[in-house]
Amino acid sequence: FTVLGVETSCDDTGVAIVRSDGAILGEALASQAALHEEWGGVVPTLARDAHEQVLDRMIDKALRAAGMESVDQVDVVAVTVGPGLEICLRVGCERVKALAIAHAKPFVGVHHLEAHVLMARLGAPHAAAGVAFPLLTLLTSGGHCQLLLSRGVGEHQVIGSTLDDALGEAYDKVARLLDLPVGGGGGAALEALARRGDPAGVALPVPMRTKKNYDFSFAGLKTAARLAVERAPPERRAEPNFFADVAASFQHAAISHLEQRIKYAMELCEARHDEWGGAPSTLVVSGGVAANQELRRRLQVLCDETRAPGQAGGSWKLVLPPPRLCTDNGVMVAWTAVEMVRNGVAHVPDDQQVKARWPLGGAVPGTYVPAR
Ligand code: ATP
Ligand code: FE
Repeated sequence: FTVLGVETSCDDTGVAIVRSDGAILGEALASQAALHEEWGGVVPTLARDAHEQVLDRMIDKALRAAGMESVDQVDVVAVTVGPGLEICLRVGCERVKALAIAHAKPFVGVHHLEAHVLMARLGAPHAAAGVAFPLLTLLTSGGHCQLLLSRGVGEHQVIGSTLDDALGEAYDKVARLLDLPVGGGGGAALEALARRGDPAGVALPVPMRTKKNYDFSFAGLKTAARLAVERAPPERRAEPNFFADVAASFQHAAISHLEQRIKYAMELCEARHDEWGGAPSTLVVSGGVAANQELRRRLQVLCDETRAPGQAGGSWKLVLPPPRLCTDNGVMVAWTAVEMVRNGVAHVPDDQQVKARWPLGGAVPGTYVPAR
């Protein structure tokens, strides 16, 4: 079967048509990066207006790319219903509800964070066995940083969370500090600048280094980066590589923090192997920050070096969605709906409300309702 998926939770209007075997038949994405650049961040009302302006065009574009003429030719329609900016979520949700009713298609409301997580399973079960549940998941995006035990579709348990900022948010704030373009997120620009810098060039502390737990904190690191810039002597500031050194040092400390937390979580998996009836031996990393090449490289090394739990032997397996599918897009919504429909889930469009706040943790509610 085929699913049309729509994403409008923040500043990207994403639409895709995905087949149940994971094939991406058509895709369209409109980024509002240029729009928000001027304001130094996402302005919700402008974002809503931009979604309204382009959504129908993106739906047509994705359908055409899939060789389809109308929504009649897809089997299911799906949309992100939360969490996110309420007025932005509503644009996608109302449009897709209307499509479901007009074309008599089953409707699925998708959890944005679950969609980031399940992106790693695109094509499962046809893909490599490593993406089978249970999975240890690091979700690291613009609004979240969490370690999850993912036991199945709609079954994610939180192992640890950020106590303050998300990592993507910290990237964006440090990018602004370094005068980098931040429309659509400053992470990619900061990563590019960091490549020219020395990761030991500026002394920045790895957060909560002596606290052995599964939680994250990035506010202190962000502040340390700001102070390092503000308090640098004029000669140091004038060095052509100074900002690149700050960028590289920030990135180095942030990834070291992730590594440390993941190591603890891996130890937890080892310790709870029997209690959990089999612990994960695959680490999934997804959400916008997972597009970062340095993060991908270092977490690959960590997985290669760490023995997988249980008797299976071998090391941890790392699964990362392709970078372009780590940030918000329509494919993740359509694919998550594929996984949900396989589990018998569909929602009644009339009843669907957007949920601006919607923590991932409990089971996603819903019972199967056939098309009316
Ligand atoms: P959430 O998913 O938590 O609701 P969001 O949807 O706004 O938040 P995403 O689209 O998943 O977030 O990710 C955007 C974030 O990812 C931004 O903060 C951006 O700076 C960051 N990001 C994107 N590419 C990179 C990169 N290469 N390196 C670091 N960070 C990156
Ligand atoms: Fe997101």
